Amino acid sequence: MTSNTIGRLHHITAIAADPAANLAFYQDVLGLRLVKKTVNFDDPGTYHLYYGDEVGSPGTILTFFPYVGAAQGRHGTGQAEEIAFAIPPAALGFWIDRLAAKGVAADQPTKRFGETVLAFRDPDGLLLELVTDSEAASLPGHAVGDVPAEHAIRGFRGITLWLGDVAPTARVLTEVLGYVAGPVDGARHRFTHPGGGIGSIVDLRAAPGFWAGAQGAGTIHHVAFRAADDGAQAASTRALAGQGLRVTPQQDRNYFRSTYFREPGGVLFEIATDDPGFAIDEPKESLGEKLMLPSRYEAHRAEIEAVLPKLGQKEEV
Ligand code: ZN
Repeated sequence: MTSNTIGRLHHITAIAADPAANLAFYQDVLGLRLVKKTVNFDDPGTYHLYYGDEVGSPGTILTFFPYVGAAQGRHGTGQAEEIAFAIPPAALGFWIDRLAAKGVAADQPTKRFGETVLAFRDPDGLLLELVTDSEAASLPGHAVGDVPAEHAIRGFRGITLWLGDVAPTARVLTEVLGYVAGPVDGARHRFTHPGGGIGSIVDLRAAPGFWAGAQGAGTIHHVAFRAADDGAQAASTRALAGQGLRVTPQQDRNYFRSTYFREPGGVLFEIATDDPGFAIDEPKESLGEKLMLPSRYEAHRAEIEAVLPKLGQKEEV
C-alpha cells in the first residue's frame, strides 16, 4: 500500500436542525451543489443531504443528518470542529462581500501557516472557514446559482480536531492514514497528506482541560478518509487493529463502502472507498433532484416521503 491510496478527506458529516435552512445556506449562500438527497440508512425518517462539487468528488463532500428540532450540540474536545474549505486567493474579497450581503457574520480574516482564514458559522453554529489555497486556483470551479465558477469553493482544505491530548490521534494519522507531521503554531499541530491537493490537511488543536464536546445540531458527526479500493480499506482495518482500535465490518453506503472506528481522541472516523460515487443511481445532470432510496427502503417510499419535511426545492411546489 502506498501512502497515497488512503488517507485524504473523503467526506465530513454533521448534524443540522432544519433541512430547508441547511439547503438554503449550503446551496444558495456557499454555492455547493446538492449532489444527493437520500435518507439516513440507519434512520430512514431523516434526510441525508450530500453537498459537493459538480459530481460530489471525494474531498468535496459535506453531508448532513438534519434532525428536525435537534438539540444544539456543544463545541469541545473529542470532536472534529472547524471545517476548512479551499478557495482561490483571488476569491477572498468576493466571499467577504458575499457573506456580509447574505447576513452571515464572519470574523476578521486571520493568517494561519501563510494562508488567510475567514471564519464564520452555519445556521446551526457549525464552525466553517474559507481558506485561501494557492493550489485551488488551478482546480476547476463550478458555478452554482450566483456564485461564479472562478470564486467557487473547490472542496475541503482540511479539518481541525479539538483534543485533550494530540499524541494518540497523531499516531493514527501518521502510522495508518499516511499523514506527515508538519508545522506547529501554538496549540495547532498540522498534519499533511503527501497526496496533496483537496482534503489533505488535518490540524490537531490541543485543548487540555477544555470541556468535552457534545453531539447535537451544529456539530460534526464523523470525518471520513479516502480508500482507493477495498484492499486499501482492509489494510487500514488491519493496521488499526494493530494499534488496538476496533473497526466495524464494511458497510455498503450505496455511493461508497465504509468502515468506522473511534480514534483515540474520541472522534468517529470512517474509511470510505472512492467508488462507485454518486452517479450510480441517477444521471450526473440531475444529481440531488429526486429522493434516492436504497433498494431495501423502496417498498416504503410513500411512507418515507410522507414523514420527510419539505426542502423548498422547485419540484416540490
Ligand atoms: Zn460518512
